[in-house]
Amino acid sequence: MQREKSRVVIAPCSTYDEEEVYRAMKCAVELLGGIGAFVKAGEKVLVKPNFLSPSSVDKAVTTHPAVIRGMLRILAEAGAKEVVCGDSPGHGTCKAAAEKIGLSTGDLFGARIGDMSQEVHVKFDEGMTAKEFQFAREVTEADALISLCKMKTHALERITGAVKNVYGLICGYRKAAGHVKYPNAGVFARMLADIHRCVKPRLHVMDGIVAMEGNGPGSGDPVPMNVLLFSKDPVALDTVFCHLVYLDPELVPTNTQGAAMGIGTYNIEEIDICIAKEGREACSITAAELQKRYGNADFDVDRKGTKKTLLSRYAETMRALAKRPVIDEKRCIRCGICVSHCPVPGKAVSFKNGREQPPVYDYSKCIRCYCCQEMCPRHAITAGKKRRRDL
Ligand code: SF4
Ligand code: SF4
Repeated sequence: MQREKSRVVIAPCSTYDEEEVYRAMKCAVELLGGIGAFVKAGEKVLVKPNFLSPSSVDKAVTTHPAVIRGMLRILAEAGAKEVVCGDSPGHGTCKAAAEKIGLSTGDLFGARIGDMSQEVHVKFDEGMTAKEFQFAREVTEADALISLCKMKTHALERITGAVKNVYGLICGYRKAAGHVKYPNAGVFARMLADIHRCVKPRLHVMDGIVAMEGNGPGSGDPVPMNVLLFSKDPVALDTVFCHLVYLDPELVPTNTQGAAMGIGTYNIEEIDICIAKEGREACSITAAELQKRYGNADFDVDRKGTKKTLLSRYAETMRALAKRPVIDEKRCIRCGICVSHCPVPGKAVSFKNGREQPPVYDYSKCIRCYCCQEMCPRHAITAGKKRRRDL
């Protein structure tokens, strides 16, 4: 029996004007059946943006407040009983991240910003790779989860999108420890897919109005892509992101492992790409048409690599080992955040030469999880290559 296609709705939008973003989001959600298809009146909803760390809006590290408010407004109209907006950042607190992007003032349409720091142990016997999680309490209290991810590059998984966004449901430093337990891109992607199988997010939205390219997910460069993406299928949504930036979806572990574990598809023949424009009939387009209209072939993302064969697995491992984290001494302020976030017992980065000098790496211990690179507040760490803008 033919698999029903996964619909991915694209809403073109080149501004973060709150009214325009709200209308684009409303129009797109209608093409997926309307918000009522995802949330029933009276339900408790957790809205999970990407708050990697407290960063100003112009850095494009977090989901934009206009996209968050747009969803909170739509949920308020749907009669959701209690709406909490929250993410457990890799560094800092959820409230600090929300404040930094101006969400602690202005209308939240009856919702509140979650604390996301109290952990609850959840057993998941059906897990194929991960059988337990330490979720933030708000995850276990919600009836429904809506994910608002950000279109960005990622040193470990190449991209971060709908599949990766659920890692912020894991509480605080447990995330760094997860990199030791799931020490490479493939097994880490399988753990993420198990989170999806466990919490079953109902709707995925990607903020791609301004994306992050290059040294993502925390230190890359903002680049306009002028689109919002919507889908029930996280893998299909990330696959359309890949096509927009001319990246082979099969090179992205969260796509291949997510599909293998049944949370979605990266086969473009099984994806219905649909354009949402206010007052217009929904129209489906091909991936080639999508690239022609909204694609960016110059988007700075790692496109190197070969399709999955035995040899390529070896090549992939060698490539990952080669992609060493490197500190730019001129940018480093010796804050020590990289050292505190290194999950490896005994640390693979330390102030061996004293606090006056930048930290140094012990690459023999380093598992290439790039937590240090993700958390450096000065964008001083790159994974294996110089920034395009520094060349
Ligand atoms: S986190 Fe960045 S700025 Fe801070 S010590 Fe490490 S490299 Fe330097
Ligand atoms: S040094 Fe950085 S990349 Fe290496 S294990 Fe530590 S946090 Fe991960």
